[in-house]
Amino acid sequence: MSAVVVSAETEFALGAARSEALARLTDGLDARGLAWLAGYFAARAEIGAPAPISAPTVAPTLLIVSGSQTGNARRVAVALAADAERQGYAVRHVHAGDLKLKDLAKERLAYFVISTQGDGDPPEEARGFIDGLLGARAPRLPELRFAVLALGDSSYPRFCAIGRAVDARLAELGAERVLDLGEADVDIERVAAPWRDAALLLAKTWLTPAPVSNVTTLKPRVAAVTRDAPRAIELIENQRITTRSALKDVRHLVFDLDGSGIHYQPGDSLGVWPINPVAHVDALLAASRADGTAVVEHGGAAHSLRDWLTREREITRLAKPVVAALAERSAHVAEWLAAPNLPERLRGTQLAELLAQFDVRVDGAWLVAHLLPLAPRLYSISSSALAVGSEVHLTVAVDPRGAASRFLADSVAGSPVRAYVETNPRFHLPGDDTDLIMIGPGTGVAPFRAFVQERAERGARGRNWLFFGEQHFASQFLYQAEWLDALKRGHLARLDVAFSRDQAERVYVQHRLSERAQDIYAWLEGGASIYVCGDATRMAPDVDRALRAAIESARGRGDADDYVAALVEDGRYRRDVY
Ligand code: NAP
Repeated sequence: MSAVVVSAETEFALGAARSEALARLTDGLDARGLAWLAGYFAARAEIGAPAPISAPTVAPTLLIVSGSQTGNARRVAVALAADAERQGYAVRHVHAGDLKLKDLAKERLAYFVISTQGDGDPPEEARGFIDGLLGARAPRLPELRFAVLALGDSSYPRFCAIGRAVDARLAELGAERVLDLGEADVDIERVAAPWRDAALLLAKTWLTPAPVSNVTTLKPRVAAVTRDAPRAIELIENQRITTRSALKDVRHLVFDLDGSGIHYQPGDSLGVWPINPVAHVDALLAASRADGTAVVEHGGAAHSLRDWLTREREITRLAKPVVAALAERSAHVAEWLAAPNLPERLRGTQLAELLAQFDVRVDGAWLVAHLLPLAPRLYSISSSALAVGSEVHLTVAVDPRGAASRFLADSVAGSPVRAYVETNPRFHLPGDDTDLIMIGPGTGVAPFRAFVQERAERGARGRNWLFFGEQHFASQFLYQAEWLDALKRGHLARLDVAFSRDQAERVYVQHRLSERAQDIYAWLEGGASIYVCGDATRMAPDVDRALRAAIESARGRGDADDYVAALVEDGRYRRDVY
């Protein structure tokens, strides 16, 4: 082992640096603070630093990694980070898409909050990270301690599959699990809240919290608009943009943001807190035979059961924990729950229908005990603030059995709607000079209307190429006039459309993409980015396959997977699909 020789000059310099660091550390501390520090250093000298086994190569911060699709995992991670900071820990919260595996190897304590989409898919932003972690080239992580909180939906057989895989793989790579994997179902907080508490308690074992400052920093009192602190914004336009004869009812909705403190960028989503439609509440009260006038205590106030169901509970989406509670009362429901196609069953059934089907009665107390809190719905924003000023636009397909789309469709101009922006940095525009290929069938076209508006306003030099698909040209060509105008003005360089039901054979956007393989490849070779928005279950995988096939046919060799992996790595292939 080589000895370190410290020269007199170095020692002097070190001494000066230490005095300076100490001065910085103690600057502004009152007598209590100085006494605390003195005690702290005395204890450190006596028992040694409460440091990890080996000296850390970076400052011992708590790393919190979130992998989120709709914002739930991110919200849990933000809450964890805020609690940790309040307790004096140095915390760094990163999105999985921004975390390099080699950097993870330098960390000492990392907590992961990661969701699973549907039956076992990673959240879009975590795809690259998960691939790397599970891949053969993942680094060993002997210095790392970790814990994983997995979010998922237990109606799927592969519940929390991504969180489970991350948890197992980190251990396999030599990291030490400090807390058992938490598996949160759709009633997230039931598991997430105690998991957060346990994780923070454990952090004390390896990290030293700094004294919590009693100095109050003066900040401007502008309250942030968030999911839990939304703003009421006014609906100023509600226009159907499919013809009366069309099967689908798609609405163009315009809201006034003036004075709301809400700001957005193209690619972001608007979170909307719905009010359950009266018909759904009536159906549930009738089927359950619960008394709608019964009093429910909630949030320190008394509500009628009817009002509480209308504003506070999820009644249009059926979740497995709710049905499992019902199955305790009915063998028929238990049988129904055991069916193999549970996710589809749950999607196609409402609680009121299940109660009626099996003639199960529940009272108000049961509903209060088991129904999940109402959650906001996210809609891709379809406008650019540069083009529409203080407005925000949405493009919403109405689901008559849903909560928010029906609530919005039934709302007239002048109605207040509680909303906030869910920022989505991974789906923001690339640089102005980058060519852009956008694939957005159906209402998946929403963010691309915002993109084209924004780029037109900015005078962006990059070319825009849109692939749009719907069932019929005559009744469902969403924003047709705007796209044709954009083509004329050069704000769209190319437009390819696929109207699936205007001919005997179904034609989809990916068929158009395959027909344009050479040009797609040429655009990609020229540095273009490719963005996809819309249906996650069928469209996105089909488009992905078509893209790989197009690249292979244009390159004339079978290395499309590597090519696409590089696009993802460089942030040039992005998807906002669900
Ligand atoms: P949609 O159901 O996606 O239909 C649009 C067009 O896509 C139709 O012509 C449809 O044809 C066609 N299509 C069906 N299967 C396809 C496939 N495998 N590949 C390519 N195209 C296919 O339109 P929508 O009703 O507007 O719904 C859009 C979907 O995207 C919904 O699932 C919604 O949840 C999601 N969405 C996501 C976002 C987001 O921000 N991530 C925004 C909006 C919508 P046929 O009907 O004739 O088969």
